[in-house]
Amino acid sequence: MSAKSSRPGDNKLWGGHRLLLPEMREKAVGFCGECRFLVQIQGREEVRLGCVVSLQRYGSLQRRVPEKLHALELLRLVGREGIEEILKRGRPEAQACGLFQSRNQGF
Ligand code: SF4
Repeated sequence: MSAKSSRPGDNKLWGGHRLLLPEMREKAVGFCGECRFLVQIQGREEVRLGCVVSLQRYGSLQRRVPEKLHALELLRLVGREGIEEILKRGRPEAQACGLFQSRNQGF
């Protein structure tokens, strides 16, 4: 075996054995900014981004995930700590997690 083909990425045989389902590939290469669970949270003075996948109604897709939610509504649902958790995961540049759902998918 030559030194050139010793790395897995260089070996066509090895590369051919990797199987990535299309929906898993989307999750593996996606970013939070492309995910439907990343929504705008309207506060009193500013709009921030937050991930609402932890909210049963949206995470289970029982309800359409809105583009924007009011902070007061969230406060009523999950309390102050819940909102902080939602905002903590509101980073559009972050690598998508396993719960990623593309905004472009139909609902
Ligand atoms: S990829 Fe995961 S963490 Fe990011 S917005 Fe979607 S559900 Fe939230």
